[in-house]
Amino acid sequence: MKIKAQMGMVLNLDKCLGCHTCSIPCKNAWTTARGSEYMWFNHVETKPGVGYPKQWERRDTSPSGWELGKNGPVLAGGGKLGRLASLFGNTAQPGMEQYYEPWTYDYAHLAKSGPTRHQPQAEAVSAISGQPMTPAAGPNWEGDLAGTHITGLDDPNFTGLQAEALLRFERVFMMHLPRLCEHCLHPACVASCPSGAIYKRDEDGIVLVDQSRCRGWRQCVGACPYKKVYFNWNTHRAEKCLFCYPRVESSQAPLCAQSCPGRIRYVGVMLVDVDAVQQAAAQPEATDMYEAQMKLFLDPHDAAIARQAERDGVPHAWIQAAQRSPVYKLAVEWRVALPLHPEFRTLPMVWYIPPASPLNALAGGEQHETEESWADPDNMRIPLRYLANLFTAGDEAPVRRALEKLMALRRHMRNQRLDRQTQDPQVEPETGLTTTVAEDMYRLLAVARHEDRYVIPSAHREEAQGEDAEHLKGCTGFTDIHGGLRS
Ligand code: SF4
Ligand code: SF4
Repeated sequence: MKIKAQMGMVLNLDKCLGCHTCSIPCKNAWTTARGSEYMWFNHVETKPGVGYPKQWERRDTSPSGWELGKNGPVLAGGGKLGRLASLFGNTAQPGMEQYYEPWTYDYAHLAKSGPTRHQPQAEAVSAISGQPMTPAAGPNWEGDLAGTHITGLDDPNFTGLQAEALLRFERVFMMHLPRLCEHCLHPACVASCPSGAIYKRDEDGIVLVDQSRCRGWRQCVGACPYKKVYFNWNTHRAEKCLFCYPRVESSQAPLCAQSCPGRIRYVGVMLVDVDAVQQAAAQPEATDMYEAQMKLFLDPHDAAIARQAERDGVPHAWIQAAQRSPVYKLAVEWRVALPLHPEFRTLPMVWYIPPASPLNALAGGEQHETEESWADPDNMRIPLRYLANLFTAGDEAPVRRALEKLMALRRHMRNQRLDRQTQDPQVEPETGLTTTVAEDMYRLLAVARHEDRYVIPSAHREEAQGEDAEHLKGCTGFTDIHGGLRS
């Protein structure tokens, strides 16, 4: 067993406002330069819908991530030889039409138009060609259901469900899904790069592109199943989310997390058995991927694990941070956070608490909301199967378990607030919610302080040795790793 530390993030979708505040500082910090206009390292899409880039979840039309081969996981769309053969003609990647043509507005016209009969207007112009255009797609084109009636049927998460019926006005549901690079434990982007330009940092597992080594082959763009590596058409290099590593190195949360007014994001350290990663990614059944990844996360409170981690070079401060990690609590201890599309086999490290939704009361139907029924996961507006297709490769049991626990917490807090005599001192042990867990969960999910939501130890240059030191050397400025972006 070899233990490494890995940064992770949990997003509580129950509280996401869909306000896009997270996307703005990220965009301003990283993707304002020419060639990156269409890139959103963090974006928020509305589900149901096809997302950004369009159909990113469809792997039948554009192979990505890993498939199970005879001897374990192999890159979908061809192993090394297949990829070499497609080096000069790689079609397994989204074209600009699957993202969108970025636009700005002709603001100068407002000042220069001179006297006119009508108020002058700032028309949309292409951010690439400067020509007038009519926007026809964007990173959240289904925003708040605006386009779901057009694209909803193509959402692959309706597998096993009656999409037509669920998209009808009386039944339709929606949720926000903020997305960023997953900083995977088994990243397809790293494995696909012929130049070795994408790498996973030893000290915290953040996946970065070394701009000086990138040769613009774009294999990573197609290989990432989350479509979170982008090609800069101006510099001819790949760019991706950096997990705001310069901030993380000084114990600050990434900008998307720091700016979130809904306080839905949690950032923390996980201790991972990296020797077992390949085996975890090789589960015969996609539905076993979630549990397999859970087994990789080691208990930081276990003295033997902590000793071994220190022997393996994890700094003491990082082990202490892992013991206080909100990500460990939400994903492992309480099992209320789940991975996004574990069937991609990249072992993602940005996890989600599934959203609860109101009782699925049909207009004029038999069902009426009661205090017992509003908390029934099988009866919620967002179908359990839809959430399972998103988070557990279609297995409904873990999603039901998470929602039941969250609902039990709501009942408990409601009883407390109403000062009900019927309040059970043991809360609801059958859901795994005891009094202590309920109090801890309430604190973290509802009223957590900044330092409890983001438990990030700083990078100690003096503790980095060997390969670590090399990586840190490369991370001293934006220009080394992400050349020219800020200049
Ligand atoms: S989400 Fe994509 S880009 Fe990010 S680490 Fe995973 S495979 Fe690579
Ligand atoms: S993650 Fe936070 S900032 Fe982003 S849309 Fe949701 S609530 Fe708003």
